[in-house]
Amino acid sequence: MFDNSEPTKTSLSELGEFGLIDHLTKNFSPKHASTIKAIGDDAAVLDFKDKQTLVSTDMLVEGVHFDLAYMPLKHLGYKAVMVNASDIYAMNGKATHITVSIAPSNRFPVEALEELYAGIQLAADLYNIDVVGGDTTSSTSGLFISISVFGEAEKEDVVYRSGAQANDLLVVTGDLGAAYMGLQVLEREKQVFKANPNAQPDLDQYTYLIERQLKPEARKDIPPLLKGLGVKPTSMIDISDGLSSEVIHLCKNSKTGVNLYEEKVPLDPAVISVCEEFELDSTMIALSGGEDYELLFTIAQSDFDKIKGNPNLTVIGHMTEESAGMHLITRANQAIPLVARGWNSMKSED
Ligand SMILES: [Mg+2]
Repeated sequence: MFDNSEPTKTSLSELGEFGLIDHLTKNFSPKHASTIKAIGDDAAVLDFKDKQTLVSTDMLVEGVHFDLAYMPLKHLGYKAVMVNASDIYAMNGKATHITVSIAPSNRFPVEALEELYAGIQLAADLYNIDVVGGDTTSSTSGLFISISVFGEAEKEDVVYRSGAQANDLLVVTGDLGAAYMGLQVLEREKQVFKANPNAQPDLDQYTYLIERQLKPEARKDIPPLLKGLGVKPTSMIDISDGLSSEVIHLCKNSKTGVNLYEEKVPLDPAVISVCEEFELDSTMIALSGGEDYELLFTIAQSDFDKIKGNPNLTVIGHMTEESAGMHLITRANQAIPLVARGWNSMKSED
């Protein structure tokens, strides 16, 4: 863990606010023609020409969204970019620019923030995103990170949450529940470490789960994949809070119902085995776990042949008339009302 009391570390006050911004952003150079002016003036200047501009923002708060006991700062920087970019992909767009604002307490030396920015830069490079601004201030306790993301899409390509129709197929990318179970494993190891700091954890069998928690990858590949298949979703959302609450968002915005089939929900074998170990129901984890950053969308039934057999895409249900309600169809073929039990940082534990 970084500690400002270490004499070899550089305290934030040595650089000052402007020195810190310059220092942390000195390696960023714009990659997009739409970046007219990046860092270095009062505002960035972006030019998306005749495309539509997509904007989203997300804040991460230490102790609420992340725990630095097991979250390396470089991973945190990477994940903060993914969380934001995912919202642009969920509009069927391309993420192009971010601004990054941070408020560290004085327990963070400059070297810690360099780690954070190394993760931000890695994500920005891999996802072809320009860092065009931001702010730094101090916090009295903990670390705050706020990122705004900008993206672009052709007007006819933008997909909203509101376009689903009855009989549309409900499709999800990747697999679900792994990030949440990665968090459970990390929380357990933290408790073991507290009790016995000499314990050597063997986390090999949990690698996939821990990676999904600490280094999620947003689905940049899906908008171009769908375009290549000739499929435009009728509605779309990203899965940050758990499948059930995102399905409910699509239904409420589109004024439809849904039948979601338990047996169709894609689970990695590692999720199934760790759920057995923790005595948790894997369907419940996929429905409520969150932080998967997969995409959930609906397509017209007539597009089914275009996506059939694609290993990235799984049909998990279909939309119904609003009056039919929102249901999970269990393996025993029982219809039970779908409830939002997604992770919600505004809600106290119940
Ligand atoms: Mg979202």
